[in-house]
Amino acid sequence: MRIFDPHIHMTSRTTDDYERMAAAGVRAVVEPAFWLGQPRTNLGSFTDYFDSLVGWEPFRAGQFGVRHHATVALNPKEANDPRCRPVLDVLPRYLEKDGVVAVGEIGYDSMTPEEDAVFATQLALAVAHDLPALVHTPHRDKARGVERSLAVVAESGIEPGRVVLDHLNEVTVKLVRDTGCWLGFSIYPDTKMSPPRMVELLKAYGTERMLVNSAADWGRSDPLLTRATGEAMLLAGFTDEDVDRVLWRNPVEFYGQSGRLDLNDEDAAEPTFAGNSILRGGS
Ligand SMILES: [Zn+2]
Repeated sequence: MRIFDPHIHMTSRTTDDYERMAAAGVRAVVEPAFWLGQPRTNLGSFTDYFDSLVGWEPFRAGQFGVRHHATVALNPKEANDPRCRPVLDVLPRYLEKDGVVAVGEIGYDSMTPEEDAVFATQLALAVAHDLPALVHTPHRDKARGVERSLAVVAESGIEPGRVVLDHLNEVTVKLVRDTGCWLGFSIYPDTKMSPPRMVELLKAYGTERMLVNSAADWGRSDPLLTRATGEAMLLAGFTDEDVDRVLWRNPVEFYGQSGRLDLNDEDAAEPTFAGNSILRGGS
């Protein structure tokens, strides 16, 4: 089983996770820029983080044979903090980088006027830089959040096939299915979407434009739930071909629209970090 996790925050994960992911078949990931829990108070905190997403983390992933790409944005939660607003001014520089395959995570957290403005601005950046967009949908008041997100996406003029609405569930899937946007599902250990529930959605709605991710981060999460979903699909009667479509070819097609996916088998290690101690220790 080859797996492309289209939404995972590896910055928050350990090397044990990279090892287990690689053993489970995860060959490629996309790491969206997001909220780190601790509020950031100045632009430099963001630029160091973005530099890590396009520099250090791809190098670290490469040690385990995993191809790493990123999406870059001012996340919805921090869109509300005026100290973070200068991030919008430096985004164009990052959106030109090779490892950046979309603008994201953008969208709503609490649906404030500040979030409205930052969401629209970043969709315009996606259009200007000819990149897809990864839209986070809120965990509270989800249906209204998805409806408003779809309205902002439509207003922006971005082609729907270049947008994924993520963290969908049984209720919100219905709102997105016929819009032409891609549908993202984050599989969690105890709450929200689970592998069996995901299988039921794939039975009901098919495999087209469906993306399955672990969204693993610093909270309770599990980077192997993509694999668990593939196994649950096979048990339910889906073919290897269906699993490959959902877990590999769909994310390749979606992020491939950036023109920047790099999935060849060469060693991903880059010389920049060659002297770092990560290379010691025998692995
Ligand atoms: Zn996320």
